Amino acid sequence: MITISISKLTKRFGQTTALHGLDLTIEAGELFFLLGPSGCGKTTLLRSIAGFYIPEEGTIAFDTDDVTRLAPHKRNTGMMFQSYALWPHMSVAENVAFGLVERKVAKAEIDRRVAEALESVRMAKYATRKPNELSGGQQQRVALARALVIRPRCLLLDEPLSNLDAKLRLEMRAEIRRVCKEFKLTTVYVTHDQKEALSIADRMAILDSGHILQVGSPRDVYRRPTSRTVAHFIGETDFIEGKIVAAASGRAEVDTPIGRFHGVVGDALFRPAVGALVTLSIRPECWMLRERAESINSVAGRIGEATYLGEVAQYGFMTGGQSLKIYELNPRHFSARGDSGENLFACVDEDDVVVLEK
Ligand code: ATP
Repeated sequence: MITISISKLTKRFGQTTALHGLDLTIEAGELFFLLGPSGCGKTTLLRSIAGFYIPEEGTIAFDTDDVTRLAPHKRNTGMMFQSYALWPHMSVAENVAFGLVERKVAKAEIDRRVAEALESVRMAKYATRKPNELSGGQQQRVALARALVIRPRCLLLDEPLSNLDAKLRLEMRAEIRRVCKEFKLTTVYVTHDQKEALSIADRMAILDSGHILQVGSPRDVYRRPTSRTVAHFIGETDFIEGKIVAAASGRAEVDTPIGRFHGVVGDALFRPAVGALVTLSIRPECWMLRERAESINSVAGRIGEATYLGEVAQYGFMTGGQSLKIYELNPRHFSARGDSGENLFACVDEDDVVVLEK
């Protein structure tokens, strides 16, 4: 297990600055995700850790070893990418053994470690098959075994599941977490898939235009985004513009065109003053539909569009000229609500209203 310490890392490609002086510590044994919109710098950061890019400024250290300028093959990182790139003419066992043969490990040791790696990804019985005789998920397991067999100092994964269908992705993401934890590997994982990250990450970083916007556990980032960009990027949310009328100890009261809300301040460093313009972020599943108003955080309105999806119903709640997204779990009263356009109250807990700097 190693700690990966990134300090003031800047990477440029000609006129484009892909990473702007990033600081980030990935703790030993952590399964850490890099997330962000296309072009934000996720792959550049991963490839810099792997050694394929040398940064213009800053340092990368594995524990206390400065690896910033070390060649990729000397960093001993295990890698797994979107395309598994297995050798088609080699058997599964030969593919997995390849890295050890290159490192001139003794034959008996290679056999033992290949068997162990294939066992750990549950592919031992496929050792003699060729890659084209395997399913996509099985090929991905072989690629994982190949990354593990060299006993890497850390594991670097770039969209490892994007070629798989939805069901296999679910299965493999749990498998990747199991293997990382079993091998106690510090793992950096790049994905576009928020659910993948929310479900298995220990922590994640949200990047935008080469900057890190927020680092935290999935729950922190989802429930307490510190900026509008993060709230917008992770999950779904409605933004409501407003003005601070009172604020103290991380809580605030905000007047908006649809009423007054009590909420929590998303960014601990943001100390809003009375009169400051702010944005509220409220997730669709946080609203509760009620017949009567609650004492605070209730808005009167009616249901406009309504979509039934089985375990959840999605409503457009019309209030004060604005349509809010509301998701109701276990929508037992769907047809009554959907058909009548009845007058209701949408209520939200104070802890589910996040006050963000405008
Ligand atoms: P995606 O999610 O689309 O894979 P990303 O977050 O991984 O995107 P990067 O591939 O790291 O983004 O790219 C970051 C920025 O650096 C982009 O503006 C991209 O165009 C630029 N860039 C990346 N690699 C190169 C390169 N080899 N040459 C020039 N520009 C590059």
